[in-house]
Amino acid sequence: MYNIDLSGKTGLVMGVANARSLAWAIAQPLAQAGTRLAYSYQGERLLPALEELTAGQDAALLECDVTDDDALDALFATLARDYGKLDFVVHALAFAPRVTFERPFIEVSREDWRVAMDVSAYSLVAVARRAAVLMPDGGSILTLSYLAGERVVPNYNMMGVAKAALESSVRYLAYNLGPSNIRVNALSAGPVRTVAARSIAKFGDMFTEAGRSSMMKRNIEGSEVGGMGMALLCEQLGSGVTGATLYVDAGFHAIGMFVPEGYDL
Ligand code: NAP
Repeated sequence: MYNIDLSGKTGLVMGVANARSLAWAIAQPLAQAGTRLAYSYQGERLLPALEELTAGQDAALLECDVTDDDALDALFATLARDYGKLDFVVHALAFAPRVTFERPFIEVSREDWRVAMDVSAYSLVAVARRAAVLMPDGGSILTLSYLAGERVVPNYNMMGVAKAALESSVRYLAYNLGPSNIRVNALSAGPVRTVAARSIAKFGDMFTEAGRSSMMKRNIEGSEVGGMGMALLCEQLGSGVTGATLYVDAGFHAIGMFVPEGYDL
């Protein structure tokens, strides 16, 4: 019934660091369905891995640190020149200083708050504003969030506050861009072992607990984020969804009481 052909579509994927990145998990089905992709990366250090990963694709690799407005302007100017228009944007990046994961939230400094909010939440607004100009016929923007944006998850701290701002920004952006047929959504993914995840103190314990306590009694795979990401991005499957944060977490978010193993309620 659904033969997804995305040839003729163009997309920007932000945040591929390596093959484990959630950005890469979303990019793969898009590329396989024929989307012409461009990838942006934070700095020179990431370029070799990205070149290797995208070797089979006709993809532009463009440097852009999202905290730099000039770099964002240059990125979208290049996309306008070389791609003409955009159909999809995948915003899969975040950062908070390591100390914010290691110290109690109450100790967060003004500067660490600013940095985390800037990279992890404001960047979506900065990207959406520029991307919308390249979406005259509509489009779809997707970001990545985590349950710690709405509930307390130990050690996630400042990044949880940034994810709350990100999810709220998704709703306001979706409201602004809805009349232009541009949809904006977030996927709230369960824990996946990526580079960013490794900076979270005791991530291994979080990962184990999420798998043990989820409804499906397992962790999720990056490819499951990729599948739902593709569904939200492409018009054929996701056309009626905007302003949403959807969970790809094997049902963990909806559990109201965690039952100890072996305990029969
Ligand atoms: P990842 O592979 O480490 O990707 C994070 C990316 O963000 C990296 O490419 C990183 O580049 C980039 N980045 C950081 N600061 C940047 C900046 N100033 N400008 C441009 N790019 C910047 O980790 P990931 O887990 O896939 O993370 C992707 C998204 O998924 C994040 O929003 C994360 O919070 C979210 N998420 C992850 C999980 C999980 O368990 N992994 C769960 C839910 C949501 P550098 O490597 O150069 O820093």
